[in-house]
Amino acid sequence: MTRVDHATDDANDLRPTWTGEGGSAFLVVLVVSALLAGCAAVPPDERLHSTLWVQTSAEYRVSAHQVYSLATERLRQSVADFPNTELALGTTDDVRPLAIIVDVDETILENSGHTARGILARKGYSRESWRVWVQESAAPPVPGAIGYLQAAAAMDITIFYVTNREHDLEEATRRNLATLGCPIRSDIDVLLTRGERPEWTRDKTTRREFVARSYAVIQLVGDDLRDFVSIPAGATDEDRVKLAESYSGRWGMVWFLLPNPIYGTWEQALMPGGDSMFAQPLEQKFKHLETR
Ligand SMILES: [Mg+2]
Repeated sequence: MTRVDHATDDANDLRPTWTGEGGSAFLVVLVVSALLAGCAAVPPDERLHSTLWVQTSAEYRVSAHQVYSLATERLRQSVADFPNTELALGTTDDVRPLAIIVDVDETILENSGHTARGILARKGYSRESWRVWVQESAAPPVPGAIGYLQAAAAMDITIFYVTNREHDLEEATRRNLATLGCPIRSDIDVLLTRGERPEWTRDKTTRREFVARSYAVIQLVGDDLRDFVSIPAGATDEDRVKLAESYSGRWGMVWFLLPNPIYGTWEQALMPGGDSMFAQPLEQKFKHLETR
């Protein structure tokens, strides 16, 4: 019996590969024992399923492409109709240059590779590992994002990237975006990071208002409700749904939302006072399941 695939990391320890004659019964016992031991020692990582969906499914790619194809079409219509077009923010009271505001993570850059590293290392999210990932400036694009941004730039629309990445990560982020072909104006700062100004907090409202003072903002694109509206502290999941529904005329018209099943502020609504549902025991999550 020869072991042909020498597993060297934790992920492969759960699925050793063996070959040879006369050892099949032993092999079955060994594999079952290994799997049982693995199950006991290594709890399943609840991010696995959503991460695989983003990384492998045709459905994720189609979803993202649909959003960007619709947004591009609407952009052309808004430009043709301007100034008689609905804005994504505020009202048309004068003719200002056109702009769009896009979020970065899971909107333009696709960071499931960072989550995959955590899953394989059996580690939850950490600020340190996130900063290492960002500083590599190598995240791939969300499907459809680059074509959308380039279409906007070709229409002379200024693109503002409003991200909750920390300010000292701005250059690494700019490098990543530029490498992928994202249009980035260099005469003004269009990459607005968290903490760049004291009032630029996690709530992105102040940054949206900052842009809207000088530009007619015709579209917002993001993966989280917070990329569009301010979410009151302590908002429940039902509050968030009501808030989103109160803007039903904007979704798919001037506001465009990408799917992100891996993380988001939706988790905080399920666990008031905390950052994420991820580390909560299953029993805590079960309470939120609807069975009819
Ligand atoms: Mg995002």
